[in-house]
Amino acid sequence: MEKFKADGGGSKEDSVVERTARHLEELVLEGSLAPGDLLLPERELAIRLSVSRPTLRLAIKIIEDRGLIRSVPEGRIVAPIGRAITDPLMELMSAHGMVVDDYLEFRYTTERMAAELAARRANDVDRAQLKRCIDAIDAAHERGVEQDEADADVDLHIAVYEASHNLVVLHVMRALSGMLRTGIIENRGKLFQRPQTRDALRAQHRAIYEAIERGDAEAAGEAAEAHVRYTHDALREVNAAEARLHVSLRRSRGGRVSTKSFDEKNGSN
Ligand SMILES: [Zn+2]
Repeated sequence: MEKFKADGGGSKEDSVVERTARHLEELVLEGSLAPGDLLLPERELAIRLSVSRPTLRLAIKIIEDRGLIRSVPEGRIVAPIGRAITDPLMELMSAHGMVVDDYLEFRYTTERMAAELAARRANDVDRAQLKRCIDAIDAAHERGVEQDEADADVDLHIAVYEASHNLVVLHVMRALSGMLRTGIIENRGKLFQRPQTRDALRAQHRAIYEAIERGDAEAAGEAAEAHVRYTHDALREVNAAEARLHVSLRRSRGGRVSTKSFDEKNGSN
């Protein structure tokens, strides 16, 4: 991280303010500061950045005006930027089954690209994070806690986006991560109806992780795309079975508009 010299006066002061503002912006851009993160208290932050508190205040004012930082009762947070697309999409998704298909289709490409880039670009810090995520998946799998495993699943995918060092991939996917979380959890609930699926998903995550770990971009991309395609296919099967069940149930209840009498239905069931 770049350090700043103590600020002087006049035009030099302006440039230190500008540089401090730019530095904070860069932290948001590279994802080190995520939407919703609480900034350090002013005094501590000024020490970290090696600037005076008046300089820091001016710098924060600049990025506040740009909408990147917001004041809250607890202090200052990174504005919830890039999240506005989450809620409408989530509503759309729950209302239209087809959007789930579109979302997963989008992920075939993004996950492949992110995994390929991660295999080429991951550094030691990224690898350590990926390792933590795969260990968390294993631990949750052993414990059999569905929610934990679903969370660890999303965390692994986000770690891959981070390791891709592609800022567009990271921010778009982070913006969608609410959907990813809900999506994966919803899918999980359905997918876990089939016991073989849980083991398959875990093996797929491991394949992605191991290919990135050994720097094999092609294998990482293949594994990532195969994982999303598998999820998509498995989900389609579960949904189809569910739809068939609904039809059968409706039929057995006379579609709730039948002229059959209650007794008659009871008798026939
Ligand atoms: Zn996954």
